Formats: sequence, C-alpha cells, structure tokens
Amino acid sequence: MKEQLLLLQELQAVDARILELRASIESLPEKLKPAKQDLERLEALLEQEKAQLADTEAWRAEQENLIRREEEAIKEAKAKVQSAKNSRDYAAANRELENKRRSLSEREDEVLKVSEPLKTTRETVAAHERDVESLRAKIREEEAEIQARVRELEDEAQTHSGERQEKAAKIDRSVLKRYEMVLRRRGVAVVPVKDGACGGCHMKLPPQLNNELARFESIKTCPNCQRLVYRIELLDEGGDDS
Ligand SMILES: [Zn+2]
Repeated sequence: MKEQLLLLQELQAVDARILELRASIESLPEKLKPAKQDLERLEALLEQEKAQLADTEAWRAEQENLIRREEEAIKEAKAKVQSAKNSRDYAAANRELENKRRSLSEREDEVLKVSEPLKTTRETVAAHERDVESLRAKIREEEAEIQARVRELEDEAQTHSGERQEKAAKIDRSVLKRYEMVLRRRGVAVVPVKDGACGGCHMKLPPQLNNELARFESIKTCPNCQRLVYRIELLDEGGDDS
C-alpha cells in the first residue's frame, strides 16, 4: 500500500514535469512572434519605398531621354537658323530655337528638382534594407537558439517518459487507470487528507472513509472529486509496506 502510494506520488511528480516541459516546448517558438511581425511590417514598408524609388528613377530616366532628344532638336533648329534664306525664315527659325531652348531648360529644372530628394530616398532605402537584414539575422540566430533549447527539453521529456513507464508498470492497473483519468480531468490526482477533508476539493470526507483510510488497506478516492486520497501521517510513518 505504502509503496503504491509513494509510486503514485512519484508518478505525479514526473507527470507534472513532463507537462511543464511540453508547455515550454510549445510556448518557446511563440517568443519570436513579435519580432517576426515587426520584420513583416518592415519588409512591407521597404517594398513600398523601393517601388516608389523605382517609379521616380524611371520618370527621371524618361526625362533624361527627352532631354537628349531635345538637345538633338536644338542642334537641328540651330542649323535651320544658320541656313535661313531670308529674314522671315530667320525669325521663325529663331523663335523655334528659343521655344526648344525654353522647353529644355524647364525639363532640366524639373529633373534637378527631384535629384536631391531622390538621393535622400536612396539613402533611406539603403538604411532600411540594412535594418531589415539585421533583424532577419537576429531572428535566425534566436530561432536557432530556441530550436536547440527545444531539442534539450524534448530529450528531457523523453527521459522522463521512460521513467514514467517504469513507475507506472509497478502500479496496480486499476489504480493507475483511476489516477490517469483523474489527472486528465483535474491536473492533480493524488492528494493528502487535511483535517478530515480532501486536499484537492476540500470537501469533508465521510467518517467511514476516514476510518478506512486509517486502516491503510487500499487506495481510496474522494467521493466528490474522485482524486486519490491518503493520510499523510501514515505515509510518513515507517513500517507497513504491503
Ligand atoms: Zn475531493
């Protein structure tokens, strides 16, 4: 009897440890969730910035193309001025040249205006790229640490599972079945009697049951919560080991 109860207590301690380990194994990867969410947000922001930068750069390349074409057109207009046969053609050619020059100058101003902001945006994008990369590296590193820790915990849980099987094999089958059923329902399955009450649900035990417990002949259950109850003073005494 006493040995059975001691075994049940040991089994309960092992089961509690296994439960704790399983909870840690499940919760550890959750730790990275906030950092991963940050990373996702930063990545999305960076993509947006890159798309905007690409748009502006495409616009500028287009403008530079137009500038080259306008420069060509100005050369042609200049040739027209030089080859003007009379003053009317000359004046018309000159007007055309002036118009083309003005248009070119306006375009050059527009391009110049985006030059400084473009430079700043490029620097910002580069800085954000570095931020994203360092956060990625940090997450990778922490993930590796967590995986290593999870493997350790799994090994420990494995060891305890072996221990559990050894102990469970020595416990009376019907008692073990009851223990496991109550453990699933209540979390704690084996409790001492305190002042004639169940140590789990605190209900006063019937006097008859208390008397039976005092005789220490078999494992008893609390009629209210079904937990396995025992008299702690009997367990602490030496002697009876049946
Ligand atoms: Zn109870």
